[in-house]
Amino acid sequence: MSRVVLATHNRHKVAEFAGIVSRVRPDLEVVGYDGPEPVEDGVTFAQNALIKARAAAAHTGLPALADDSGVCVDVLGGSPGVFSAYWAGHRKDDAANLALLLDQLFDVAGPYRGAHYNSTIALVVPGGDERTVEGIWPGRLATEPRGEGGFGYDPVFVPDDDAAGRTAAELTAEEKNAVSHRARAFEALAPLLAAL
Ligand code: IMP
Repeated sequence: MSRVVLATHNRHKVAEFAGIVSRVRPDLEVVGYDGPEPVEDGVTFAQNALIKARAAAAHTGLPALADDSGVCVDVLGGSPGVFSAYWAGHRKDDAANLALLLDQLFDVAGPYRGAHYNSTIALVVPGGDERTVEGIWPGRLATEPRGEGGFGYDPVFVPDDDAAGRTAAELTAEEKNAVSHRARAFEALAPLLAAL
């Protein structure tokens, strides 16, 4: 059986990736990556996803998948972007990141609070192709956190496609997973997996 390696230690992401791979290519075995972690010093989602996928492909000799994601705020010129996980410092503290972002936007009025999530997935074949695909989930930032679901910036992210104006943290996991930036990136990845 052919194999593909997933360059992530996040168990939730491994399950999501394994789901899409098995739908598109049931003949592909998905294996986890436990090799050395590269320094993620890219300044775009694609650069960071490629850094992770290249490292896993080089270490295992298998085709490798890796993703990088974050929230991009219009009025901040696309930041936090690739710095989303560490926006409030190196502790990788979701609550502190969200609080800082809300504070930075405290006097920004509704029409200017546009934002989107980006999920970029890289597929690297050893000695061969390098491809990236992107999923964008457009929305806006609320002024107060709402909801208990999701993670990260979800309590303040109001996706454009929810008619009820709920935040991503107020959606069920199923609702979020059907339309999120990761869902959209997975959709774009499917044809590449099929051609692998
Ligand atoms: P990474 O792709 O795991 O490195 O995620 C980067 C950071 O982006 C996370 O720590 C979150 O702050 C943010 N982020 C990415 N995807 C989501 C999401 O679906 N909801 C909320 N925050 C997210």
